[in-house]
Amino acid sequence: MRPVGAVREPPLQMSYRLTMPAIRKVLIANRSEIALRVVRACAEIGIESVAVYSEADRTSLHVRAADEAYCIGPPPSSESYLRIDKIIETAQRAGADAIHPGYGFLAENAGFADAVQGAGLTWIGPPPEAMRLLGDKLAARKVAQSAGVPVVPGTDVEMDRPEEAATAAEKIGYPVLVKASAGGGGKGMRVVRAREELEAALRTARSEAQSAFGSGVVYLEKYLDKVRHVEIQLIGDQHGNVIHLGERECSIQRRHQKLIEESPSVAVDEKLRARMGEVAVAAAKASGYYSAGTVEFLLDRDKNFYFLEVNARLQVEHPVTEMVTGIDLVIEQLRVAGGRKLSVKQSDVKMRGHAIECRITAEDPFNNFAPSLGEITTVAEPSGPGVRVDSSIYRGGRVPIYYDPMLAKLIVWAPTRAHAILRMRRALEEYRLVGVHTVVPFHIRVMDSLDFQRGNLDTGFVADFLGRAIFKEEGREEAEHIAGIAAALVTDRKRQAGTSAAAPGQGTNGATRESNWRREGRKAGLR
Ligand code: ADP
Repeated sequence: MRPVGAVREPPLQMSYRLTMPAIRKVLIANRSEIALRVVRACAEIGIESVAVYSEADRTSLHVRAADEAYCIGPPPSSESYLRIDKIIETAQRAGADAIHPGYGFLAENAGFADAVQGAGLTWIGPPPEAMRLLGDKLAARKVAQSAGVPVVPGTDVEMDRPEEAATAAEKIGYPVLVKASAGGGGKGMRVVRAREELEAALRTARSEAQSAFGSGVVYLEKYLDKVRHVEIQLIGDQHGNVIHLGERECSIQRRHQKLIEESPSVAVDEKLRARMGEVAVAAAKASGYYSAGTVEFLLDRDKNFYFLEVNARLQVEHPVTEMVTGIDLVIEQLRVAGGRKLSVKQSDVKMRGHAIECRITAEDPFNNFAPSLGEITTVAEPSGPGVRVDSSIYRGGRVPIYYDPMLAKLIVWAPTRAHAILRMRRALEEYRLVGVHTVVPFHIRVMDSLDFQRGNLDTGFVADFLGRAIFKEEGREEAEHIAGIAAALVTDRKRQAGTSAAAPGQGTNGATRESNWRREGRKAGLR
């Protein structure tokens, strides 16, 4: 993706100083939308990009977009995207001087960061020592506590004996959560409501964590009900500057995995933002942190917040922060990895408007979110004012079984939250994808729900929401009907009738016409 007719001297008003970067060529040790995201950032600031890919990703968008691309092995990630030796060897062969890990795969593997640096390459991420300290939840709790950050009540040590765990649980008070210290992606976590469930929960959490993370260390936390997940985005440089870029609300989760994120949070005012930001920065400074990172908290109704963990990497949901702050997190990562100072100070950070992200995964919301594999035969993605699509989708692309089911992220920005919801609703309706099921109908229904519109969110939202009738069989019929006919008929019918292809009373993605979002839109005075 070489800039065509590149301007030699950037105009002075550009927010990034596009001086010759310290890094010249970056290998991206990842796939899908995040690899493409990093390729784009590199292209904008004149850094060359090197993609790596497995045999299953030969025709992927990130492979086509990068300046160079190398196959690193067969489809299973253990034989390709997790092969530290292959990746470093490829970087050296391609003459790259730095490696960006994206998120997932090797992004939080301090051993990988060490190996990258050991090979004389620049690691685009936090220092490996900070990753080690914060990558382990138990260790991170200690760092947070010693930096004066409030943590969820729990044990500060591993709980490996059931009797010891029972005594600790009694003291904390049920319900408790058994949590894997090395955990991530909601794995290795079990809610325990009574003593008799404890032993089995310890056993299953431990074995799940052992097989997923290679460590079966578990501990206990108080299980907090009716709380929001609110996290603070940080960015720091190697000159001791660490700033925060406000919060993201990520309470819309299924099985502890985020589905929808937004910024700002309706529950956070200026004062709370400043306090949360301050403690997050303190925790980062206590571990010698730089690059992008996120401190996750649970926030209760009384505005008490509790430290959960630090994600020592770029996160999936980083675009909502970029949209409201105007700061490009990947460009900042590239700058600071090359030893430059942050391009902004804390006092420069202003949040403007509202951004929402919906994760578009190949899962069937009408069948308990079962993975949906296959070939994408038709695709048209949304666009228009305030819409950003970070996507790996293309016609003829296959959704392989080997990787995460996330295909794209649909992000919208608007001056107000009400408008952002309407805009997201509109953009979701524009999404045309045939060949696999996606969670688009789920997102449309969330945008339609009055609780979402009113900002009545907590981490139990999705479980409550899915229990309702809208996700029963009649919904599926509607959605399948739409998916099946939409792509083929929309253009044709429009031409013939001069109207939408949908049946009367339906939107093209299976929603009723007179829905909450339209009503709320009227109330919000948007039309
Ligand atoms: P992971 O690293 O697996 O993502 P986290 O610690 O970030 O795990 O937690 C993921 C989600 O699990 C949180 O956003 C929240 O919904 C839930 N969770 C974690 N700890 C607690 C707790 N102590 N009480 C209630 N919910 C929790």
